[in-house]
Amino acid sequence: MSLKANNDAIERIETFVIQIPRDTPYLGPLRAGEAVNRAGYVVRRGNRTIYPVTDRSLLLRITTRDGITGWGETYGIVAPGAVRELIADVVAPILEGHDPTAPAAIHDELYDLMRVRGYFGGFWLDALAAVDIALWDILGKRLGVPVSTLLGGRRHDTIPAYVSGLPAATLPERCDLARHWIAQGFPAVKFAAVVADDGAEAEIAALRRALGEGPRIMADLHWKNTAPEAIRLIRRMEPHGLTFAEAPCAPEDIEGVALVARSVGVPVALGEELRTAHEWLPRFERRCMGIAQPEMGRTGITEFARIGSLCDAFHVAVAPHATIGVGVFLAASLQVASTLSRTTWHEYQHSVFDRGRAFVTGDMDCRAGHWTVPTGAGLGVEPTEAVLAHALP
Ligand code: MG
Repeated sequence: MSLKANNDAIERIETFVIQIPRDTPYLGPLRAGEAVNRAGYVVRRGNRTIYPVTDRSLLLRITTRDGITGWGETYGIVAPGAVRELIADVVAPILEGHDPTAPAAIHDELYDLMRVRGYFGGFWLDALAAVDIALWDILGKRLGVPVSTLLGGRRHDTIPAYVSGLPAATLPERCDLARHWIAQGFPAVKFAAVVADDGAEAEIAALRRALGEGPRIMADLHWKNTAPEAIRLIRRMEPHGLTFAEAPCAPEDIEGVALVARSVGVPVALGEELRTAHEWLPRFERRCMGIAQPEMGRTGITEFARIGSLCDAFHVAVAPHATIGVGVFLAASLQVASTLSRTTWHEYQHSVFDRGRAFVTGDMDCRAGHWTVPTGAGLGVEPTEAVLAHALP
């Protein structure tokens, strides 16, 4: 690689698999026919997707020879050992001893290492996301500025938050939960169609009756529908005041979701599963969405910022995804989102963030309907001993 060594070079890269117990599984209590297997996973029947019953994340720490510590984080919810091994076996031996102060160049050089083998995404890009976030953190700390300053400066100090997920067993309980969040000052709630017992149309109708006319309601359709099914479903939901329809079709069905986007009266939102600008580009070109939902834990900062530039070029709003993590990639997401002209919302996973308020330092917050973008140098947050105590051996 062309990276040069110096006295501020990377000394050490370490990973930590964090596992945190949960009272209620992600997406709510287990349904009939759903059981926890011997590895601690449950397959949700509604979307045939595997989830752990604990919260898990993969933290990464890069230490430089002159003592700066940068933190990164990526998805660890399923098979976190895969990313851990990629870092230990491929990435760390290359980066140790090298200059950390060119995160985007390092990201691209690491990306190149595996492209001829077809590793354009998946666990490999998850590993690169964690490294990239930590390198931007180091650069910000070295210069004494937030990552947002490195990216051209902030347009937003706060970002509107929508409440994501209503993890309760019955529809009346989910309506109560929605009312609770709106009463806390949040302008919008998103429900998961995959656990809507009587279907997404009945779910939004009940939520609208419970909330009245004002609050926004979004629906996550969890990639379940063919294009014609999605068009029929979304059209039936529109009279109930749907703000956006997320993930209507399978991720591979680019033409299908483009047809949906052309055929319904509300924006399609998508993209949490996509990692690089290369993966995103065909969705922009085919006008698949009105709202992009990049997930920092999969993209890293460099690719997230590139996706943000595509949003500008294609006049697409940005509403970053938020998921299970300890707060490091979330802070990175807020840092980049704060610099983008088209940031409209940022997802708020209350069951993750509120439980983890003690897991990171800094002034990142979400209350009364807004995220506060952290103001400290680098990411503006660091993991606390409280979260590192949950590291698996
Ligand atoms: Mg989603």
